[in-house]
Amino acid sequence: MIDLRSDTLTMPTPEMREYMIHAQVGDDCYGEDISVNQLESYCKELFQVEDALFVPTGTMSNQLAIKSQVQEGNEVLTDLNYHISFYESGPTALLSRTVLHTKQTADGILNIDDLVQMIEAKPRGSLYAQPQLVTIENTIANFQGKLFPLNQIRELYEFTRTHRLSFHMDGARLFNAHIATQIPLHEYAKYVDSLSICFAKGLAAPFGSMLMGKKSVIDQAKKYRKQFGGGLHQIGMYAAAAHYALQHHLKGIEKDHQLTKLLARHLCMIPEFNIQLNEIETNMIFLDLSALGVTSEQFISLCQECGLLLFPLFRHIARIVVHRNISQVDINRAATMIDRVVKKIRKRQLHNPVIR
Ligand SMILES: *Cc1c(COP(=O)(O)O)cnc(C)c1O
Repeated sequence: MIDLRSDTLTMPTPEMREYMIHAQVGDDCYGEDISVNQLESYCKELFQVEDALFVPTGTMSNQLAIKSQVQEGNEVLTDLNYHISFYESGPTALLSRTVLHTKQTADGILNIDDLVQMIEAKPRGSLYAQPQLVTIENTIANFQGKLFPLNQIRELYEFTRTHRLSFHMDGARLFNAHIATQIPLHEYAKYVDSLSICFAKGLAAPFGSMLMGKKSVIDQAKKYRKQFGGGLHQIGMYAAAAHYALQHHLKGIEKDHQLTKLLARHLCMIPEFNIQLNEIETNMIFLDLSALGVTSEQFISLCQECGLLLFPLFRHIARIVVHRNISQVDINRAATMIDRVVKKIRKRQLHNPVIR
């Protein structure tokens, strides 16, 4: 099976496992896990942030950012399709009792006009819900791993400064953005109050995220991490894996991006997908199946029969994510399989034009 469902599917390498075995550990709830402390210090320097907190998942990291920066009954301004809204609307309501005020942008880039519109959409007198936090995502997962341009991040940041809003970046794939743009990680961290990164995506570690940013935010987040059940003990082996991944796997993301472009060039030959090569910026390709007249579930089950796994993101969009465990040989084979599936669908449509 070639598994292109997600970049969370990578496996720890033998070298990483070896590194984990030798990690020095202690009780992190007492601040005594040496490997966790080393990873947090390393990230503080790499991102040039005031403080950093190792947490189990990207979801907990985002949730801590919300809990620490928004009071109950107040609002988070974000895009409908960002992870925080798309997958985390439940936890946000449950854990923080805040309102997600979302806008469905056409291109995934939330801009100042969008924020003004959301703020002005309701009465904002002292008796009503106050917007307190703006969140963006980089890269933007539901827009094919698109890059959020740094100049637009800076503009949003400046807007939040003059409107008494906090600013959070969900950077689960910020390493992909960094590799694609060559913009230093600390440059991204400069224009936010809080930033979340994931070690278990492109870096291919088995576990963990880092919530970083202003000390005032991280101080709050420490308390809530414990309350959310994320206060861990001898977790240093996982911190060591993340540390190893940062030092040895960052450059490998470049290869993921090259292989994604290679696959996109193959898939360009299939006109029904209407793939725009200049829109393939990082490690994702979305296959639009509308013109083939099949749903993503139908398409994916045909791919699976050939030995290829894809993710059914939307009704007519199948998602491809390239990651560290995928080789050039896999990419060429995946292209052949998709080609075969498309031919099969076209042939079926000749005989039976209604397989929707
Ligand atoms: C994966 C991801 C997360 C969090 O994922 P976890 O599975 O909770 O670690 C958050 N935001 C984005 C954009 C993601 O892709």
